[in-house]
Order: sequence, then C-alpha cells, then structure tokens
Amino acid sequence: MGDLLTIGDALARVLERVQPLSAEDVPLADAAGRVAADPAAAAIDLPPFPSSAMDGYAVRSGDTPGTLRVIGQSAAGHPASLPVVAGTSIAISTGAVVPEGADAVVPVERTDGGAEAVAVEAVAPGDNVRPRGGDVHAGDVVVTAGSAIGPVQIGALAGSGVSTVRCGRRPRVAVLATGSELRRSGEPLGPGEIYESNGVMLAAQLQRAGAVPELLGAVADDRTATRAALERGLDADVLVTSGGVSVGEHDLVRDLLAELGVVEVFWRVAVKPGKPIAFGTREATLVFGLPGNPVSSLVGFELFVRPALLALQGASSAAPAYLPGRLASPLRRNPGRDELVRARREGARLAPLVGQESHMIARAAAADALVLVPRGEGELAAGEEVSWLPL
Ligand code: AMP
Ligand code: MG
Repeated sequence: MGDLLTIGDALARVLERVQPLSAEDVPLADAAGRVAADPAAAAIDLPPFPSSAMDGYAVRSGDTPGTLRVIGQSAAGHPASLPVVAGTSIAISTGAVVPEGADAVVPVERTDGGAEAVAVEAVAPGDNVRPRGGDVHAGDVVVTAGSAIGPVQIGALAGSGVSTVRCGRRPRVAVLATGSELRRSGEPLGPGEIYESNGVMLAAQLQRAGAVPELLGAVADDRTATRAALERGLDADVLVTSGGVSVGEHDLVRDLLAELGVVEVFWRVAVKPGKPIAFGTREATLVFGLPGNPVSSLVGFELFVRPALLALQGASSAAPAYLPGRLASPLRRNPGRDELVRARREGARLAPLVGQESHMIARAAAADALVLVPRGEGELAAGEEVSWLPL
C-alpha cells in the first residue's frame, strides 16, 4: 500500500493535464457559480458623484456650528441642486448629489430640522459625504481573472456598471453509471437490484461546480453496451464513470477505456473511501473512473473532479480549500490511507457520524463536512486540530 499515490500527488497529476477551456461573455445575472476568465474592471466611478451618506443638510463645514438659510433640496435620483454658498445649506437625502460648494452633511438628528433656516451642530470637512469613486474608480479591477463569481461579485460588478462578464466556458461532463444491479429510482426493484444513486448525485455535484452534466444513464456490466456508452461519453470535455474500476471480473471500465484510446494516468490512490479511482486522458478529454460505492464516488468527486472542473474554467485556485477545525470525538487513523470522514459541524467542533462504510450514502446525508484524517498509527484525540472540507 505504501506505493499508492497520495491524494496530493494524484491531484497534481490531474491538474497538470488540464487545459483551460475557451472564454465566453456571460450576462451578469447568469454568472453565479462561474469563473472570471479575464479581470473584470469597473465601467464607472462608484459612487458616480459625491453622494450623501445621511439624511440631513449639505453645508460648508466652515459655517458650522451655526444657523444657515435653507435654499433648496437635493433628493436621491435627481441632478445636482443649487450650489451651497456661505451661510446657506441644502436639505439632502441619503444617496443624493452633494451640491457644489458643500463639503459635509449634517445629519438631521444633529440639527433642529428647520425648513427655511436650520440650526446645525459642527461637522468636519468630508463628514457624511461619500466621495466620487470612493468605492472604486472606472477601470479598476473589481474581480480578478480566475476568481469564482458568487453573489458578492455579482453585486460588485452590477454596482460598477458591468453587465456582462467574461467567464470560462462551462465544461460538458458526461456521466455514466455502470452495474447490472442498478435500477432507476421510481422503478420497482428486482431480486439483487439496488437503486442507482451515483449518476444523479454526480449530476448535482457537477451543477454546483459550474459544469453542464450530460447523463448517459446506467449500463449493465456488458462489454458491448459499456464500450458504446463510454465512446459516447468521450465526446465530452470530461467523462465521469462510476463503478467497474475494481479488480472483479465484471469491472470492465479501465480495460474498455484503454481500448478506446484513453491513456491511464493513475489507478488507485491512498485514500479511504475511494481507493480504486482511475484517471486518464484522451486528447483534451479528462476521464475519471470513480469507484461504485456511493460514498467513494462522492468523495472522489470532491477530491479530484471538482478541482479539475474549476481548473478547466480557469480558476486560479482549483485545489480543495481545507478549513481548520477541531474534532468533537476521537477518530482512529488508518495506517495506509488518508481518510475522509463524514462529520457534522456542531458549533466549532466536527462530530464524526456513526456509519462510515463506503456504501452508507444514507448515513452520509446527515454530514456537512468531510474531515481529513491523515494516515498513521493510533487515533486523533477529541479536540485535536484537523482539516476539513465543507460538503
Ligand atoms: P463497483 O465499484 O462496480 O465494484 O461497485 C461497488 C459497490 O457500489 C457495489 O455494491 C455496487 O452495487 C455499488 N454501486 C455501483 N454503482 C452504483 C451506483 N451508480 N449507485 C449506487 N450504488 C452503486
Ligand atoms: Mg460494479
């Protein structure tokens, strides 16, 4: 077992074979979950004009404290009002243009609220004025190339006057489940059959990773059917299979992939669950053979497939981002393989779930974290610091 690839080495072998896909313009509203291909720069200064941070009176700070004539008003969404000259003020609302001549706004709470004349407390230059470009200047980069675009980035770009963003193309990913025992959910189960879960689960994982899943369904462990389905799948940017990569006589996937010209890069990684994972390429197409046990498939996707999809879309940091945390209870280590343990976050602690076998997908439903337990002897104690991935 000592000669198996580590998770890190295997991931490096995947990532070094990724060629980022082409870029395309995406309407901002559709860009959530995508990766910026180019730096996205502000189209305007934000705010576009000096604007008031408060409801109150725009004044010359040198005139305060004192009583000032109110010569007009400035409301949000309207052009600039009359300029403020010595001894005068403009009633102003939050977000309205601060008129020329004024260098501060006195919040209404610090005035007597007068309509024709107003008594104001002292303010300093710049108080309650948001300067033009104080958030960002036109041409400044708001979202760097290779960043993931989420709700915050969408808000930032919209505010900065950007309506389309250049993103890495979404990878087309074919998903094929293999196994004569698999039935589609909703159909009655025959003797010896189980419900197919990996294909639908992978499709959901793919969607979250910004990919476009292409479900090829499930094929029986039959050379002709499996070969035909694999051949179809190899047209995609990525082919993900589940099952049939172990050492059983019905495990046909690696053999057939080789026949179809896929060059295997690795098979088997020192990880639990998911050791028999296979990875190869045919030209630019990446091929992942995930083991059939549902939790192995889940974990293999998070460790290797998601990073590859992010890299294909041009992400600058594609590797899984482990977070620090502490165990709520002890965990035995595996001497030969790093282990990813399903756990639930309980406050600041990670509580490993009961039922860690690789077929126990229903148990895994209660997990929101994968805790990395580095291989070794003995156990990790309760309270021990560990790395984990959100699920
Ligand atoms: P395999 O990797 O093909 O040897 O499969 C390992 C285990 O996972 C077996 O118990 C299979 O029945 C099960 N399995 C394989 N594919 C799936 C699937 N798509 N959905 C649910 N279970 C599966
Ligand atoms: Mg099988």
